[in-house]
Parts: sequence; C-alpha cells; structure tokens
Amino acid sequence: MLSENQDILEIVSQFCDTLRPLEDIFYLERKYNDQLIPLAKEFNILGLPVKSEYDGLGLSNVQYAQVIEKISAEGSGIRTFFSGHSSLGQKTIQRYGTEDQKQKYLIPSTKGDVIFAFALTEPEAGSEPLSMTTNYVNKGDHYLLNGVKHLITNAGIADVIITFAKGPDNWVSAFLIDTHCEGIEREDLTTKMGMPTTNTSMFELSNYKVPKENLLGNKTQGWEIAKYSLLNGRLSVSAGCVGTIADCLNESIGFAKGRFQHGKEIAKHQLIQEHLSFMKTNLESSRLMTLRAAELIDQFELDGSEESFQRADAAVSEAKFLASNLAWDAADRSVQIFGGRGWSFLYRPGRHLVDTRVCRIYEGTDEIMKLKIASSLLGRGFEAYS
Ligand SMILES: Cc1cc2nc3c(=O)[nH]c(=O)nc-3n(C[C@H](O)[C@H](O)[C@H](O)COP(=O)(O)OP(=O)(O)OC[C@H]3O[C@@H](n4cnc5c(N)ncnc54)[C@H](O)[C@@H]3O)c2cc1C
Repeated sequence: MLSENQDILEIVSQFCDTLRPLEDIFYLERKYNDQLIPLAKEFNILGLPVKSEYDGLGLSNVQYAQVIEKISAEGSGIRTFFSGHSSLGQKTIQRYGTEDQKQKYLIPSTKGDVIFAFALTEPEAGSEPLSMTTNYVNKGDHYLLNGVKHLITNAGIADVIITFAKGPDNWVSAFLIDTHCEGIEREDLTTKMGMPTTNTSMFELSNYKVPKENLLGNKTQGWEIAKYSLLNGRLSVSAGCVGTIADCLNESIGFAKGRFQHGKEIAKHQLIQEHLSFMKTNLESSRLMTLRAAELIDQFELDGSEESFQRADAAVSEAKFLASNLAWDAADRSVQIFGGRGWSFLYRPGRHLVDTRVCRIYEGTDEIMKLKIASSLLGRGFEAYS
C-alpha cells in the first residue's frame, strides 16, 4: 500500500522540509503563513484527491490519509488548510459538481488558482447544523442568500466557499459562493488558542446573489452533501492526528536521548520509556483505525450504497474520536518529556498541544462522535438526538 504511494510521499516530505523553517518563523510571530500556498503550488500538491481527468493527483482515500499524516507533522494548522481545500472542498465538488462547475473551479483549484472553504457552522448552529438560519430565496435567474457563518477554515483566503442555506420549503441546499462578488463581508478570527499560521474566519452574506448555475447538486441534496463532506473532513482530522502523534514521538525520542539528568540520558529512565511506549502503541492503533476508515470510504465511493456509507461513517467517527484524543495525549506526554522547554512554543510539542486540541471539537465534537458510534451500534430508534 505504502510503496504505491512512495513518489508522492517523497514529494510531500520535501515540501515539509522546505516549509518547516518558514512555518517556525510565522508560528512564533503568530501570523498567517502566506508562503504555504505558493510553496504547495511549487510542489504541485494542491490537487491530492482530485482525479487525473481534472488535473489532480488522483489519490485514493487510503493514499490521501498517508499523505495527510505526513503533512500534519508540520502542525495541525497546516493540515487544516489542506482539509478545508481538498477534503471538504475538492472532494465535495468532485462528487456533486456539474461538469461546468468542475471545469470552472475544480481544475484551477489543483493549481492553487482557486482555494476552497466549506461553511456549515453558524454562531447558533454548531453540533446541530440543521438549525441553521442562513437562508435563500429563488429569484428566477439567481438565488438570494442572507446569513452568517463562523469558525470557517480558509474562509478569509478562499476564492470559493461551499455554503449551506435553507430555502423557504426548509430544504438545505449547497451553493458555490464566489468571494470576489458583492454581498459578502469576511472577518478573520485572530484570538485563537492554536493554529496561528492558518486562516479561520467568519463571513456574512447580505442579499448575496448566487447565479443559478452555482447551486451544488440539486436543491434537496444539501444535507446529503454535508454528510459526505464530513466523512472526508473527519478522515483528514483523523489522519492528521496520526501525524501529530508521530511527530510528538519523534521529537520526544530525539530529546530524551540527548537530555542528561541524574547522570544518564532521560531516555534511560523507565518512567520516560513508559511515555514513549504509550505513544508508540497509540500511534499504531490510530493509524490502523484511520486506514480502515479510509478503505471503507474508498468502498463507499465505489459502490455508493447506503450500507457502505453507514459503515464508513461509523468507522471514521471511531477513528477520529480515537486519534484526536490520542494526539492530545501524545502532545501532553511530549511536553512532559521536554520539561520546562516543553512549555515554550520554541519547541514543537507545546505547539502540537495547543494546535491539536481543536481536533476534538471540529468536524464533530467528541460528544457527537460518541453519540454517532453508539447509534451505529444501537440502531436509529436509540439515537440520542434527531
Ligand atoms: C479552528 C476551527 C475551525 C473550524 N472550521 C470549520 C469549517 O471549516 N467549516 C465549518 O462548517 N465549521 C468549522 N468549525 C466549526 C466546528 O465544526 C464547530 O465548532 C463544532 O461542530 C462544534 O460546534 P459549536 O462550536 O457550535 O459547539 P456546540 O455545538 O455549541 O457544542 C458545545 C458543547 O456541547 C456539546 N453538545 C452539543 N450537542 C450535544 C448533544 N446532543 N449531546 C451531548 N453534548 C452535546 C458539544 O459536544 C460541546 O461540548 C471550525 C471550528 C474551529 C474551532
């Protein structure tokens, strides 16, 4: 599996090596890393899951998860950019877009000439997205949208935002919002706990006109589209968390072998070894769960059946829940191994600790993942919420 993917993994490794010293500076200055997209363009990695007929690299979900794991060692922020652009943006348009939409948006996105974001969450509609109040009316040759979306990855830098809104008949529909048109105002979130180098924004649509041809799927398909996107978004979070654990482990091993206390390397103290053994076991289990979920998403994309969707949905919820909690644990252990240095953003463990925390919140919180896992066991009649 890995060997088929070796070429792209090597390219991504080189991208990561080039990005790291730049990211270090932006992170310490707590600024948006404006070199990320130009560098990703240079390495031609902005169309990872897009089929070759649309100029992408055509990675399967399994291959994509392996690449996202590698990218995530550079920080959850860097990975989150790819999740917004590729997992939530490109994959969604690839599955539900018309041929015209793919020509106009998907193909240029593989070169970084169009950047995507995905907007479901609103100030009063988070874990319960169907309570959204962003709304639209049909005006004949266009739709008129009004509403506010917040906490949206890439929204401040995106050219196109997949945006969900309710129609007068209460159907949720998905639209491709061009951010260069009138009627949209964006504001970046700057008071963030972590991921300072990537963009998180809110935006308001005021009588924003969407041309008819920018409806994604049909008007009754919005919720189906959102659920498919979340499958991909959760896979990328899960794979990203595997990368976080791997980097925490690498950093910890390197540090523990070089740091002397009580007359020997701290790596020779058994309590430090205990941390490393937990991290290694958690790395392998998270990776296996993530690749299993990726295989099941591959299967769903092949056969499109409801049964395959349910299997993939449960597996990716389990993987995301496990990997995001174990990434948090790994970052915490790694900070502990680094001692006082671990508490500083000069070192990677402290950055991972604050960056990875959001992985237990976005794309479905821990609580929502637990409820989804339980309902996959108990059946629809036992769902804790509807
Ligand atoms: C950095 C960042 C990036 C993001 N990027 C995006 C993006 O690109 N696109 C997008 O659409 N959204 C994005 N989000 C939003 C994210 O998906 C939401 O924050 C998340 O779904 C939780 O919603 P909420 O913040 O409104 O919390 P709430 O839904 O208000 O939840 C608050 C608490 O209540 C709990 N809770 C809620 N319902 C239940 C229940 N039924 N049972 C038990 N507990 C419950 C939650 O688990 C949580 O602990 C992003 C968020 C962050 C922080």
